[in-house]
Amino acid sequence: MLFVKTPQFIQKFSSSILFRKKTDLKQVYLTFDDGPTEEFTHWILKLLGSLNIKATFFCIGENAEQNPYIMSDILERGHIIGNHTYSHKNAFFSSTKSYFKDIEKCKAVMPKTDLFRPPYGKLFPSQILKIQKHFKIVMWDILSYDFKKNISPEKLKQNVLENLENGSIIVFHDSVKSEEILKECLEDILVKIKENGYTFSTL
Ligand SMILES: [Zn+2]
Repeated sequence: MLFVKTPQFIQKFSSSILFRKKTDLKQVYLTFDDGPTEEFTHWILKLLGSLNIKATFFCIGENAEQNPYIMSDILERGHIIGNHTYSHKNAFFSSTKSYFKDIEKCKAVMPKTDLFRPPYGKLFPSQILKIQKHFKIVMWDILSYDFKKNISPEKLKQNVLENLENGSIIVFHDSVKSEEILKECLEDILVKIKENGYTFSTL
């Protein structure tokens, strides 16, 4: 089951996995999953640059391999990269061994990061134990639902703005599925977050 706001009991149950940073500062964390993409990443980077916001990009190894210059661009602009497996693998359909192999294949493309986010937010406990030895597992506490077909800009804004709190980790997608809706309302959402007194930090 997917929630817009990750419930407290799940956050507490998995205390070794990061859902939201504990902080008294009005600081939030913007994350973009599934890139890099040929054209859309560039649009996102330009927008973030114009608003002076830094974000974390959880990239798919296969996409990163095809677009090395975009990966360099993300880093050169001061953003952070995280591992999102090589082939966007679903952990629930994988053995721990084959799943970790996919993570390692992604690591070969982006060797420096120690952040990992599982596709679909899915992991078995045995996989968590294995991955934790090598990476910091980062989930989220706000899923924007930008990937949902026909979601309205109003609903998307509401999902993010009404669930925001200190240390929130927000998920958007650097993917074809989310491109249209984000081009329509991402700027507005980010500006509103700033107007609410929050600053953006990287993980
Ligand atoms: Zn993903």
